[in-house]
Amino acid sequence: MKKLLAFVLLITIVFTGCTKDKNTNNKNEERLLVYVSFYPMYFLAEEIGGDFVETKTVVPFGVDSHDYEPSMDQLRELTNAQVFIYNGANFESWVEKLINSVIEEDKTINASKYCELIEEDGVVDPHLWLDPENMIKVAEVIKDKLIELDGKNRVNYEENYESLKKRLMDLDNKYFEELKDKKNDSIIVSHRAFGYMANRYGFKQIPVAGISPDQEPSPRTIANIIDLISEKNYNYIFLETLASPKTVEVIAEETNLEILVLNPIENLTEEEIESGEDYITIMEKNLENLKKALVK
Ligand SMILES: [Zn+2]
Repeated sequence: MKKLLAFVLLITIVFTGCTKDKNTNNKNEERLLVYVSFYPMYFLAEEIGGDFVETKTVVPFGVDSHDYEPSMDQLRELTNAQVFIYNGANFESWVEKLINSVIEEDKTINASKYCELIEEDGVVDPHLWLDPENMIKVAEVIKDKLIELDGKNRVNYEENYESLKKRLMDLDNKYFEELKDKKNDSIIVSHRAFGYMANRYGFKQIPVAGISPDQEPSPRTIANIIDLISEKNYNYIFLETLASPKTVEVIAEETNLEILVLNPIENLTEEEIESGEDYITIMEKNLENLKKALVK
């Protein structure tokens, strides 16, 4: 009896194993396998690729992208990618060693190569995706790459790109329109992520933490920010969803500021993805909160 059970179990494993393999193979034959480093690139690849690509992200949903280190298995999987899209500008510290060892450079798209980068205190700011115009530039490069790899679906990629471009342009116009009557010129943010957004729409960010959220501020920086808050008429301080420095809450309490969310879209949570949130919907929510701090 025991033997029979073991046999049945073995057959089941082999059988389900086979079906699974078959499905994956079919999928791979029909769909391009696109790897991205993190969410904003995932959004672009999914929107343009639609049903014709399978998009996988190295940084899992819900995880802070700044200090993520991929596993060996993930790196091995990357060798199967037909294209790998990443942000660049030192956002993914692990990327450099992959290129030309795990994946050839001509199979990669480095988004930062197509955008005008901001530098502050000699450090390049990697948060280029928070300017919708940059997203359009990168989207075009992705569209061209997908067409190069899969010309038979050219029309689909072009249509998807055009409708994405329109959504991004509408978002950009909405930001300009709704922030044009600003009464304040700066906001206090959790980490220095909003330089591109601030540049485009004409305000300044006062960051509590540095380029990465884990660069906690010195007591001096905290004291300076608290001074600044008491001199100027700030009512709000911005917190982020995935990795906010504890200091933000301390400053908020100390200065009686109301906390609002400004999401740097470095990743989305599983729940956000499931409930249909994406780059655009989160940027719209960001705009609502920015208006509270800058316009009202
Ligand atoms: Zn950041």
